[in-house]
Amino acid sequence: MSVRVPASHCPDCGELCDAATHASSDGEVMPVEGDVTICMCGSILQFGPGLVLEPIDWSKVGESSLKMKLLRLQNMVLDMKGKGR
Ligand SMILES: [Zn+2]
Repeated sequence: MSVRVPASHCPDCGELCDAATHASSDGEVMPVEGDVTICMCGSILQFGPGLVLEPIDWSKVGESSLKMKLLRLQNMVLDMKGKGR
C-alpha cells in the first residue's frame, strides 16, 4: 500500500515522486529520513531531511546483504517497468 510523501524530484530522472510503497509490508508505512527507496527509473535513492529524495550514500550501506537486497529490488523495478510499457 502506498503512502503520500512530500513531493520531491528524483535526482536522476527528474520524475516527481509523491508516494512510496514499503517493499516488505502491506501496511501503510511512512518512510523516515535515511530510508532507502527506488525510483521507477531504477535509481537507488534515499530519503534525506524532510523526506527529500537524494542519491544513496553507499558508504553508509555497510552490510553486503543489504546491498544485494537493494540490487535485487532494483532489478524487480526495472523488470516491472519493462513489462508495463
Ligand atoms: Zn528516477
